Amino acid sequence: KKLGIALVGLGQYSEKQLAPALQETKNCRLAGIVTGTPDKIGKWKEKYNIPDKNVYNYLNFDSIKDNPDIDIVYIVLPNSMHAEYTIRAAKAGKHVICEKPMATSVKDCEAMIKACKEAGKMLSIGYRLHFEPHNIAMANYGSKETFGKVKKVIAIDSQEMEAGAWRLDRERAGGGPLMDLGIYCVQGALYTVGENPVSVSAKEGAKTDVSRFAEVEQSIDFQLEFPGGAVANCHTSYAEQGNTLRAEAEKGWFELDPAYGYDGLKGKTSKGDMDIQNVNQQALQMDDFADCVANKKPTRVPGEMGLRDVKILMAIYEAARTGKPVPLKLS
Ligand code: NAD
Repeated sequence: KKLGIALVGLGQYSEKQLAPALQETKNCRLAGIVTGTPDKIGKWKEKYNIPDKNVYNYLNFDSIKDNPDIDIVYIVLPNSMHAEYTIRAAKAGKHVICEKPMATSVKDCEAMIKACKEAGKMLSIGYRLHFEPHNIAMANYGSKETFGKVKKVIAIDSQEMEAGAWRLDRERAGGGPLMDLGIYCVQGALYTVGENPVSVSAKEGAKTDVSRFAEVEQSIDFQLEFPGGAVANCHTSYAEQGNTLRAEAEKGWFELDPAYGYDGLKGKTSKGDMDIQNVNQQALQMDDFADCVANKKPTRVPGEMGLRDVKILMAIYEAARTGKPVPLKLS
């Protein structure tokens, strides 16, 4: 039997990526929706054949506990709302997938992990690139030392953000491009080096558009230092374009450009092009989680990984604020 997933928040990512991906999944299916916008209900019900009893709003959401059609709740709301809805879903006895970044504070991440643990439910983060073969190749080249030990990583993820978006509102986003895009640089650097960093330094970029970036950074540069001596130089901005993950190792290099998109990823190495097919990342990600739930296996992208990354993001902000390197103690 396919496990039932309910999407919470029917914005761009749910509509354009997750719902279509759920038409390709083998272990799970789109069974329900949770929305605060009644206008969206008719279209979603019709398009995906969702019965009335599986449609919820933010007020009656907790009654999802009585619905056996829903096994997994997928939180696709603005960042500051992830904690509340993850905790409510766990208390309703549902397994949870929560989008990145896991939350806007370390305290929230810890509360989410605790709630899922207490409810005996699994928690995973929407880190789709762990199921994407180009990114998996980067991690394998790094850990297998195919090109020798990795010495340096360069990671850039930048995208224009239009004025007025919730992503520019500190309250809802928790920060600027670092929370939204820089998190891919952090992730990419960590899985390419295969270690957790021990120290970060950072510098916020100048604001060329002061009104658009009144509440959050426009761009930020940061450097992660790894225990084995590798260094990652990272850049993220809401006023440029960039999408690269590159590793320089003792005997060669390997890189993706674009690196973090949904499709069209391309890889090259010092020995030639990577010949890798693009896949439906979200379908693989959700199928893997459903398999983990059904067979009681740990997920490769657990809440603990989301917490680790939010700790790193907060340390990057602290380093930028103080102008000093911030040591990290990650288990
Ligand atoms: P979006 O703005 O398109 O959708 C957000 C949804 O939340 C909308 O349906 C909106 O109505 C609803 N919402 C409820 N309360 C809201 C409020 N107070 N303010 C604004 N919207 C509110 O955003 P999105 O791009 O779908 O992103 C949602 C989440 O998914 C974010 O956490 C984002 O980081 C994550 N995301 C992840 C990926 C990925 O590749 N893993 C890609 C895109 C987005």
